[in-house]
Amino acid sequence: MTGSVSRSSQPAKSPLALIAARIVEESLKHDVELTRLAALAQSDPAFGVRLLGTVNSSAFGLSRRVADVRQAVSLLGTRGIRNLGLSLALSDMVPTKGAGILLAHCTRRAAAARAIARAARMGDPDEAFSMGLFLEVGLLARARDDLPGVVALARRPARHRPLFERADGIRPHPETGAEMAAGFRFPEELVEAIRTHHAPTMPEHPLGRVAWMAERLAGAFESSGTTAGVAEVRSSLEKLGLTRADAAQLVAGFPEEFAKAAAFLDRELEPQRSLEDLGSSAQQALVDLNVEYEAVMRRMEELMAENERVAAELREANIKLSELAATDSLTGLPNNRAFREALGRELARSQRAGTPAALIMVDIDFFKRVNDTHGHAAGDEVLRAVAQSLRAALRAGDLAARYGGEEFVLLLPATDLAGASVVGERVRRAIESLPVALPDGGTLTVTASFGVALARGAGDASGVFARADAALYAAKRGGRNRVAVEQPDAVERAVA
Ligand code: GH3
Ligand code: MG
Ligand code: MG
Repeated sequence: MTGSVSRSSQPAKSPLALIAARIVEESLKHDVELTRLAALAQSDPAFGVRLLGTVNSSAFGLSRRVADVRQAVSLLGTRGIRNLGLSLALSDMVPTKGAGILLAHCTRRAAAARAIARAARMGDPDEAFSMGLFLEVGLLARARDDLPGVVALARRPARHRPLFERADGIRPHPETGAEMAAGFRFPEELVEAIRTHHAPTMPEHPLGRVAWMAERLAGAFESSGTTAGVAEVRSSLEKLGLTRADAAQLVAGFPEEFAKAAAFLDRELEPQRSLEDLGSSAQQALVDLNVEYEAVMRRMEELMAENERVAAELREANIKLSELAATDSLTGLPNNRAFREALGRELARSQRAGTPAALIMVDIDFFKRVNDTHGHAAGDEVLRAVAQSLRAALRAGDLAARYGGEEFVLLLPATDLAGASVVGERVRRAIESLPVALPDGGTLTVTASFGVALARGAGDASGVFARADAALYAAKRGGRNRVAVEQPDAVERAVA
């Protein structure tokens, strides 16, 4: 038998599921005979036990116990046997643990379809029951590979499940279910009913309508019974020809229908809660959701504040970093790099303005001796003290920088050679008279030598450095603690 429930869904099956699948297939044949079904039912003891259990269950309401499988078969009829076989085949498709919600969904649709078919007088209620059982087969087929995924989907509002399936890149279960039903050689209208059970509007075909309504009714009981959902179900039932009272009655009586279906299928499922019950828990769920939402919002606000704080810290750190990169950490003066940048700007500006700019190189005399005699820490103190006196001696707009080691450099905008040598002389005296406090408590005095040069245009940065350095060398050679101004021949060399 090709395309049977057993072979199309799972390769390995329990004998009970195998026999159930054969019974389903057999029961779908037009010329089915109950004796043939009875023979099949008897061929498997487990199926026989289930059959007797169903017939003898309180749901069936018999006054006398039935102990014979043949008798049970005739009592249940073709459709009853098929429904039993179908439910066994379906429950065999899902894992025994953690799939209760899936079987409950199938049972709910079966119960809904039967109740709707009965109330709207649309076909055989037991046929509708079979169809209802099978509506979610496309979902069940996934359960063995991805039970958590399917269970998560089953918890979503029924209406949006095909949408979520699409979003997850999974073929929607109405399509896969219809394909499976076709594979099982189910009647064409049943295949079509499964295909359209999530359609946006109610299908035309009677079985399709029952399936569509069953999905909505079951869905309303799965989505915590939102009032809008229930109202929609009632008005759809009225469209099927039910009176308002009958529609309300069907919805109100649904938990009982569910209980009957579960008993028939011999499934231990949680009882179907009433809509009122679901409604109140929906309100609780809403409260929980709001609390959760608020917590999430609070957390986001915290994160945003934290982000803002980190960003501010980062900005500060960046400012510090660029300061560090531009500042000599020992003296706090701009470093060589910063000075060269400032010099470039100043030379361009002085050229535009047509005003001179002077540069003075400062080098502490015999500084090595300070380190050698008083230690490196004392040397550092001298460097700091000299830097401080340089800063103090300068006008606003002048710039002092640590050029490197015990060498400093001064940039004097709008200053000619004569003015610059006056400044140099003033600084020289300031340094000379500086009592440097030493870490060991004593004091020290130092002197420095100065080389002064005049900048000549925007491209003269290294030129003016070189001439100032030459002048400084002359000051050292001339006896130190003095200011030397660049020589005219040096100027000419630089210009040429
Ligand atoms: P001159 O009068 O010819 O300039 O002699 P000098 O000893 O001052 O010159 P020299 O270039 O021979 O020695 C400079 C010394 O400065 C050597 C070096 O160890 C010291 N020095 C450079 N940077 C620092 C510093 O940051 N801290 C300290 N304590 N010493 C430094
Ligand atoms: Mg020196
Ligand atoms: Mg030196």
